[in-house]
Amino acid sequence: MAFLVKKYGGTSVGTVERIQHVARSLKEARDAGDDIVVVVSAMSGETNRLVALAKAVQPAVVDVRELDVLLSTGEQVTIALLSMALKELGVDACSYTGAQVKILTDDSHSKARILSIDTKPIMKDIEAGKVVVVAGFQGVDESGDITTLGRGGSDTSAVALAAALKCDECQIFTDVDGVYTTDPRVEGRARRLDRITFEEMLEMASLGSKVLQIRAVEFAGKYNVPLRVLSSFKPGEGTLITYDDEEDSMEQALVSGIAFNRDEAQITVAGVADTPGTAFAILGPISDLNVEVDMIIQNVGADDTTDFTFTVHRDEYKRVIDFLNSKKAELGAKSISGNDRIAKLSIVGVGMRSHAGIASKMFRRLSESGINMRLITTSEIKISVVIDEKYLELGVRALHEEFELAGDEAEKD
Ligand code: ASP
Ligand code: MG
Repeated sequence: MAFLVKKYGGTSVGTVERIQHVARSLKEARDAGDDIVVVVSAMSGETNRLVALAKAVQPAVVDVRELDVLLSTGEQVTIALLSMALKELGVDACSYTGAQVKILTDDSHSKARILSIDTKPIMKDIEAGKVVVVAGFQGVDESGDITTLGRGGSDTSAVALAAALKCDECQIFTDVDGVYTTDPRVEGRARRLDRITFEEMLEMASLGSKVLQIRAVEFAGKYNVPLRVLSSFKPGEGTLITYDDEEDSMEQALVSGIAFNRDEAQITVAGVADTPGTAFAILGPISDLNVEVDMIIQNVGADDTTDFTFTVHRDEYKRVIDFLNSKKAELGAKSISGNDRIAKLSIVGVGMRSHAGIASKMFRRLSESGINMRLITTSEIKISVVIDEKYLELGVRALHEEFELAGDEAEKD
């Protein structure tokens, strides 16, 4: 018997049949004695459909207040239908919008942050034996306006509820059955991980494994809410995301996963003065353009000049190159160059903290595969390299093998 938050994403509640399927799984858990708060997304495609409707009416502006009123209806449909489906099965249930709970947020429409959650109405229902069904992705601000938490925000709703209610676990049901050692579409031998730490998950997520919203993982880490990713379609244990467990670290794999990101572009500003303020002169205005910079590398200066290289999202590449070219004289740069056909390849693992030689193992294997590394950055639990995009699949598979990440038994269905 446990107190659980179970969150179902859009595909899991995408049709009436799927909603009924979710209701049956919930009934099973309820019959087994679990206390359950369910958080649901809008039916798949619904939020996009609503966004398109808004665009059709207001093509030039985004009225975020009205957009939030509109988008929150998607989840409101699902909570009502799921509660009805539960009642059809004889399970006592009750639905709540974010405002009804209430999930109080700040007033940043379309990207609101949760400030507090009133747990009293939920606890009252739970004590009365009901399954409580809460709309994800939405809240209400101090003045009573409906807010939304940003795309994918139902994950955050679920984690926040689990934290506020002090649940045993927050279970995220989705269309994959867990977190994998790498993307199974690139490496067929990728293996589902039984466990991963919050830190590792954050690195994997920020590197493009889109299983969970990053904010939700951060939130779960901050409030120490055990998070489990499971499939709504295929029974299994999924992947548990928790803190690093000291006892387990003896058996810990050096590397837990291979992550990658194709969305990057690299830019080099060559021959700038090697003096205080140069990095700021280049990156300050880029941050003013609202462009996020990822990796940053400055060469050791020679002849009082240095080269400065960084990566940005590929969509921003042209804008940043044009901007820097317009500032070339001002920056005193010899040249501005770049490449938008690169990819970032990373190994992630808390095991790296206590083991030396992992970087050299990675570099040796990549060199044996004939892959040139253009940039390298490291953190305590991650080593990232930038390579030519055309070698990405090769690199992922080589490192997956090098760090022995494939399962012993082929766990394929
Ligand atoms: N329905 C919202 C979206 O599509 C929130 C969510 O699914 O988490 O972004
Ligand atoms: Mg979602």
